[in-house]
Amino acid sequence: DKKLHIVGGGMAGSEAAWQAANMGVDVVIHEMRPEVETFAHQTGNLAEMVCSNSFRSDDDEQNAVGLLHWEMRAANGLIMAMADRHRLPAGGALAVDRDPFSESVTKALLDLPNVTVEHGEITDLPDEGHWIIATGPLTSSALGAAIQAETGAERLAFFDAIAPIVYADTIDMDVAWLQSRYDKGETEEEQKAYLNCPMTKPQYEAFIDALLAADKTEFHEGETAGYFDGCLPIEVMAERGRETLRHGPMKPVGLTNAHKPEEKAYAVVQLRRDNALGTLYNIVGFQTKMKYGAQTDVFRMIPGLENASFARLGGIHRNTFLNSPTLLDDQMRLKSKPNIRFAGQVTGVEGYVESAAMGLLAGRLAAAEILGKPLDTAPQDSAMGALIHHITGGAEAKTFQPMNVNFGLFRPLEGLRGGRKGRKDRYKGYTDRAKAVFQEWLDGQS
Ligand code: FAD
Repeated sequence: DKKLHIVGGGMAGSEAAWQAANMGVDVVIHEMRPEVETFAHQTGNLAEMVCSNSFRSDDDEQNAVGLLHWEMRAANGLIMAMADRHRLPAGGALAVDRDPFSESVTKALLDLPNVTVEHGEITDLPDEGHWIIATGPLTSSALGAAIQAETGAERLAFFDAIAPIVYADTIDMDVAWLQSRYDKGETEEEQKAYLNCPMTKPQYEAFIDALLAADKTEFHEGETAGYFDGCLPIEVMAERGRETLRHGPMKPVGLTNAHKPEEKAYAVVQLRRDNALGTLYNIVGFQTKMKYGAQTDVFRMIPGLENASFARLGGIHRNTFLNSPTLLDDQMRLKSKPNIRFAGQVTGVEGYVESAAMGLLAGRLAAAEILGKPLDTAPQDSAMGALIHHITGGAEAKTFQPMNVNFGLFRPLEGLRGGRKGRKDRYKGYTDRAKAVFQEWLDGQS
């Protein structure tokens, strides 16, 4: 069977279908809406934007998500073409008129002679044929159970608990130091996987006050089904008692301040290395429902993080996603069942743009395989490639949480210094390099 079956007609599934169909492959999209609904979707259209109407920054020289826009446009992406057609004025961001956008994505796909849409829920992982599963953060529970049966229950999460992620080069190392608690870890590398920021008692008290006072978001209705106590937001822990954090994620034990060995910290904030490159660190245990503006204010009160830049801020959401670093190969195939690929948010990327990008890649890889001309995955120095390398290899499997595209995922550039001063040049360097290698990858396919 040379057909490509795509489960889920969201951002990723729609883009995957468009790419594969344009390469000459017959595509069937299986979409459960409108028969089976989710708590967030409102229509039966393909590529519905469930919440904000923004594709974020469109700056393809200084912003990683803008670079992803550029790459998808270069690859004849449907999601970008329709977003551009239905663009709303919004400064440097790409805001989209959501209903005409999803209607025109739906129409463009149905107009292709080799695409059909079958409405109905898919509830298992087929043994035969070529499949892409792109069922998103709200994957139906029957299919979720089938995925868990294949991968093991602990390899599919139903909530994300995202701790804020800081760019390593914006942490003040005159204040912070590298050390794992009780110097645990086999190798020196492992002992240096943690970075510590010390707090005095007044600093801790002020921090707790700020946490309690900060603006927070609420869960959507229906979102908390299955929510468990193991990933409590940090501010909820603080509400349970002013000392709770000092006995939990901020406990000062087993650590010695490398700068002031004689001073005993009252509390310590720990950050853990988040990628193999060592460019990103996450603040351990700091998942939160604080609003984004409040998060930067509160987290910059942490000694050593006064000038921190955040690759992503914290959050907790209903979000079905795989432990991709252990389960998927760089072709996005399930290692245990290689006739099945995964794409979109369920692979552990986050956001409309990232999800569509992973759909674009999966669609091309699957179609190339069906046509008997296998294709290398996107080059690591492109935005698309940096993302796929992160989720299928670079990320820590044990603590894997969904990721936005950001420059921390990119391999360092030779000859350009880090630090704040050189940042503009560095970002331009990343985006120039990315465009060149991505274009080369595309040219190799024509
Ligand atoms: P989706 O776009 O969700 O598409 C998946 C599709 O699969 C859906 O159409 C679903 O109906 C279908 N499906 C599910 N299970 C089955 C099944 N068993 N059989 C057949 N079809 C099935 N991202 C942002 O960038 N900005 C935001 O503001 C934002 N807000 C969000 C708010 C909420 C409440 C949620 C849940 C997510 C939000 N996201 C946001 C994330 C956003 O949903 C994703 O970035 C994007 O839509 C993911 O694309 P996708 O194609 O992977 O999944």
